[in-house]
Amino acid sequence: MTTSNATAASRDINFDAFRDPVLARELIARIHELAGDRQINLMEVCGTHTMSIGRYGFRSVMPAGVKLLSGPGCPVCVTANHDIDHAIALARMDDAIITTFGDMMRVPGSSTSLAQMKAAGRDIRIVYSPLDALDIAAANPERQVIFMGVGFETTTPTIAACILEAEARDLPNFSVYCAHKTTPAALRAIANDPETRIDGFILPGHVSTITGLAPYTFLVDEFQTPGVVTGFEPVDILEGVAELVRLVVSGKPAIENAYQRGVSTDGNAVARALVAQAFEPCDAEWRGLGTIPASGLRIRDAFARFDASRRFSVQIEPTVEPRGCRCGDVLRGAITPGNCPLFGRACTPEHPVGPCMVSSEGSCAAYFRYREA
Ligand code: SF4
Repeated sequence: MTTSNATAASRDINFDAFRDPVLARELIARIHELAGDRQINLMEVCGTHTMSIGRYGFRSVMPAGVKLLSGPGCPVCVTANHDIDHAIALARMDDAIITTFGDMMRVPGSSTSLAQMKAAGRDIRIVYSPLDALDIAAANPERQVIFMGVGFETTTPTIAACILEAEARDLPNFSVYCAHKTTPAALRAIANDPETRIDGFILPGHVSTITGLAPYTFLVDEFQTPGVVTGFEPVDILEGVAELVRLVVSGKPAIENAYQRGVSTDGNAVARALVAQAFEPCDAEWRGLGTIPASGLRIRDAFARFDASRRFSVQIEPTVEPRGCRCGDVLRGAITPGNCPLFGRACTPEHPVGPCMVSSEGSCAAYFRYREA
């Protein structure tokens, strides 16, 4: 489908059907009927799902035994303190301009944040696309322009395109601090976690547009756990939950796609090829999940001059985790945000202690905003 045809097709979708209250009530009744009094733990892997579930109050209308737990689907939240401290150390370089998405600014590192560094006079700029960072580099040839790259499969094709564009435009003063991660490895870590019992995964709609369904089949093959790729409108979410509950109850796990208007079985091979051109897999440290083999992306040697971590040697302060913060346990679904003793007291969106309260997709921010705790 060409872009213009795709645009026309999306214009033709009647989104009212995905917000139909009658249909929503029918699906809620179906979830109750299917679940009965069973104890079923489902995890929404994507931060956008966490926000939508909170916005529509779906946790409160589930059967008593069906728990919707939030997972590690917010890229800002899972970024390790060490990576934030590294970006802060880069920001201390005299000629540096740090560019980043807005959510990263207020995430506390070990002793400060990018927002505090900016207030102290460092040149740190919010961009809406990494491509904006290229233009900043072109306009400031005497400065080093570093993009703080965080995100999952949905974000990485744009970053890859950016690196290739920097090569094509010969922008030697542009680089990326790469803290990108891949989703399936995190699911494996959670499926293996003895403290977290997940009966089914609400799989991420956006990420799956790139990956397709194949990377999730290990959940069935190795863990006998079902997953359903789910969209973001209210009826999408309830359909996904209903199908997941049906799969759990049936005892016949499978990976299914309840978001066919957005996700194809094979995903986007062109985007994956772009990523493979610029990046290769590497071990990565996740907040809450520790170091997971082959769960991150590293810039390939051929583009090493655009890799900020290899180009600049900086003094990084020793990592100190925020005292009392339970973000790690929240991110692996071991506790809900309300079980963190700091939630809503010492930690609020105005004065966040951990990243889950900062990010627009963070679990703690969602639970606080929608009074879910
Ligand atoms: Fe971390 Fe704050 Fe959430 Fe507690 S409430 S887990 S301190 S972000």
